[in-house]
Amino acid sequence: MQNRNELILIVEDDSQIRNFICYSLKQEGFSYITAGTAQGALSTLVTEQIDLMLLDLGLPDFDGMEVIKKVREWSEMPIIVVSARDQDKEKASALDNGADDYLTKPFSSMELMARIRVAIRHLHKAGGNRLQTTLAVGELKIDLDKRLVYLEDSELHTTPLEYSLLSLFFRNIGKVLTTNYIIKEIYGAGYGSDTQALRKLMAGLRRKSKRTRQSHAIS
Ligand code: CA
Repeated sequence: MQNRNELILIVEDDSQIRNFICYSLKQEGFSYITAGTAQGALSTLVTEQIDLMLLDLGLPDFDGMEVIKKVREWSEMPIIVVSARDQDKEKASALDNGADDYLTKPFSSMELMARIRVAIRHLHKAGGNRLQTTLAVGELKIDLDKRLVYLEDSELHTTPLEYSLLSLFFRNIGKVLTTNYIIKEIYGAGYGSDTQALRKLMAGLRRKSKRTRQSHAIS
């Protein structure tokens, strides 16, 4: 078995299919992470360096098509749709929205692996990870690849939660985000609408950036 460097995200709510895909990937030496919902997939994409995504369309919270559109706003990572929907209309729509490939259920392990190998070959041809890695707004810069934040070229040390919050803002520049949406994205769906924790998190970030600016002014 060959050990591979790529990390694959499997987005699938059907545990039987998910287990089948996991098993197939393991046999080929791939590392993977699983998500059973669209929200889970999006938060995993923020916190992990994913190289390729296998995406089911019929997900319990919202449609996989929405995941494709959202991810394409900020990343060009390969997306292979794995769906029971076999209508040409669905396939065309997924590809038009930015999916790279479309595999109809049921499928064999051999076919799935072949499609993954093709996607990974394209990924490497395009120069490794195609994710847009650095985003900047004014003096604030974020390196999604290294998970580092810079303010006026000095590194701003952030906790994982602070980093998630900042990267969420960066990926949604120019958009108004509701507090409930932010809480759900940062803390997960089970967190309700407790704004207290979010306020504390933002205050902490503000203090840090103020300190970084001050030390800059002195030096
Ligand atoms: Ca499903």
